Parts: sequence; structure tokens; C-alpha cells
Amino acid sequence: MIQTNRLDKGYFAYQQEFEDKALEVLRSGWYVMGKELAAFEEEFAAFVGSKYCVGLGNGLDALKLAFRVLGIGPGDEVIVQANTYIASVMGVTMNGGTPVFVEPDEYFGIDADRIEAAITDRTKAVLVVHLYGQACRMDKVTEICKKYDLKLVEDCAQCHGSDFDGKRTGTFGDVACFSFYPTKNLGAFGDGGAVTTDDPELAKQFRILRNYGSEKRYYNMVVGENTRLDELQAGLLRVRLSHLDELNEERCRIAEKYTKGIKNPKIQLPEVRENTTSVWHQYVIRCEERDRLAEYLKEKEIATIIHYPIPPHLSQAYGYLGYKEGDFPITEKMAAEVLSIPIYNGLTEEDQETVIKALNEYE
Ligand SMILES: *Cc1c(COP(=O)(O)O)cnc(C)c1O
Repeated sequence: MIQTNRLDKGYFAYQQEFEDKALEVLRSGWYVMGKELAAFEEEFAAFVGSKYCVGLGNGLDALKLAFRVLGIGPGDEVIVQANTYIASVMGVTMNGGTPVFVEPDEYFGIDADRIEAAITDRTKAVLVVHLYGQACRMDKVTEICKKYDLKLVEDCAQCHGSDFDGKRTGTFGDVACFSFYPTKNLGAFGDGGAVTTDDPELAKQFRILRNYGSEKRYYNMVVGENTRLDELQAGLLRVRLSHLDELNEERCRIAEKYTKGIKNPKIQLPEVRENTTSVWHQYVIRCEERDRLAEYLKEKEIATIIHYPIPPHLSQAYGYLGYKEGDFPITEKMAAEVLSIPIYNGLTEEDQETVIKALNEYE
């Protein structure tokens, strides 16, 4: 079976470096909030091109704290694309905010031309999700946020290293939220997350909030949380980060091979907007008979996965928002047609060719 991901391959590719770092941390006797975290924060901020990075426990906490420091609460609306992973929306609602959904464009990012129509006098922020690795249309998004004085948050859980117009994702908003869940382009060996920002005051608030609301031990200023990136994960992330450019390039090569090789009128391939790059977190094809195609591939020993079968507005969790089927037809059609085919670091050329051949022979 060709799997949709093989995390073991990501480990064995740099086995010695990971093991050396793990032993170094284990033997150091210091496991939380130490020098590995400080070094990772500095290196990751430099990679993104932001002034500050604050390591956190996971991507959801990054989103949740982002809206908290930006002052989003009950009565406030946040505009977000309807076709995202549900964690993006939870970051808003866990603060009491209300998500206002906007349909995506054909590149799977928020349709910037539909944002203005969704703005009300309660709108406080826009959340963009650079889904599957490709940047959203950030020139238009930043222009609107400026015009209406809205905060801008970027969900960068899938786009470590992609650019819009030569500027890196994670540098457009007030805050950018990252996840280092093992399957992400920059994956840890457990949970991990971070925020980046250029604002020293916001960075300070994240540092306080991640550690029980205290800057100085046992002097608690606010009711904070415990959401820290531990030394072992930070150290291992430093190793992976030092190879991230080559890892992203490998994903781009696989995507290019798919794009060149897959030719089937029943299958729509993903496209990348001009002046934009993707780091190909996923390679998402579309097919009107998606479930039949997935079944066919499974019979050919090729695994696939759907990102995501149920859009947040139709999930049970958000039933209380009162949406119904048909409210976001573009998003709902996407959810019915998208299929992610295998793409990961270490996917062999032979396996890539098997995937291409199977897709071309589908009828
Ligand atoms: C993975 C992911 C998250 C959540 O990150 P966790 O670290 O799993 O909490 C949020 N948004 C998007 C788009 C993601 O892909």
C-alpha cells in the first residue's frame, strides 16, 4: 500500500542528527523553557522573517491565544474562509467570538473579492488560512484590513515557507499561527506550535499567557494557560528546520511530477496563482465522482485522504450557529470533490509513478 504519509521516513532521513539532539536534551537535565526553545524561537522567527516567535503547545492554542491577545470576545465577528480545518474556527469561538464564513477561490484560499460583503460593524478581524501550502491573495486581503481597520491573523499550520509576491506567509498579519503537528511541513515528534509577530507588546503577552499568566515565577498577572513548547520538541524542530528548505523543495518536485504526469479529463489538478508559491503540504485533486475514485485507488493499493469531508459550518460542533446545507455552495462542492493523494518527504519516484499511472488509467 502506498500510504498518504510515512512519518518514519522523515525521521530516518536525519536519524543521526535527531538522535544526537534528543540525547543532548535528555542528558541536559532541563526539559521545559530552556535554551533549545530560545534558540528555536530565534531561528524560526528568522525563517519566517518576523521579529518575534513564541513557542506554544500546539496550533490550536496558537490560534486561541492570537484572538485572545487581539481582544476578540463575545459580540465580535471574525471573517474566515468556510473551507478550512475546524481548528481555525475553534480559535475564534473558544474566545466567544463569532465566525463569519466566506467562500474560497479556486486556489482553496479565502476569496478576497467576497470579504467586503461580509464586513459588519461588529467585524474585528480576518483570519486567512494558507490551505494545503499555498498563500492566500494577500495584497487584496491586507488592503481590505487596512481600509476597514481590521486585525489580520494568518493560520500558517500548512504553509511553513510559502510566499505571496516574494513575501513570506506569516509576515502579513498582526499574528501568524503555526502548528508543528508531526504531519506538517515542519513537524515535531509530538505536539507543538508557535506564533510569530512583529509587535513586541503582543509577543510579551503570548509569553505571559503560555505560562500561567506570569512573567516572573509565582507572580501571576492574568489567568493564563499552560501551553509551552518543550525542550525536546524545540531541539528536534531545530534539526528539522535546518533542512526545511530542502524538504519543501522535495515536496515541490513531487507536485511538479504529478502536475506534469496526471492527464485525465475526469480529474482536476491543483493550480498555483501567479506570484505565489506553495510548499505543497497536500496535493489536492478534484473529481466529481470522488468517492468512486478513492475506492478505485484503494483497490490499486494507493491510500488517499479527504481534507476535509465536512466544512465547519455543517459540523455538529457548530450546529448552534444555525447554518444549513446550501449556505456555502462552493465550499460544500469542494468538500464533496477534494481528494489528497500521497505526498510526503521520502515518497519514492516509483511510488509517484504508480500514483500517476493509476490516475491516468481511471475511467
Ligand atoms: C493542523 C492545523 C491546525 C491545528 O494545529 P494543531 O497543532 O493540530 O492544534 C490549525 N489549522 C490548520 C489549517 C491546520 O492544518
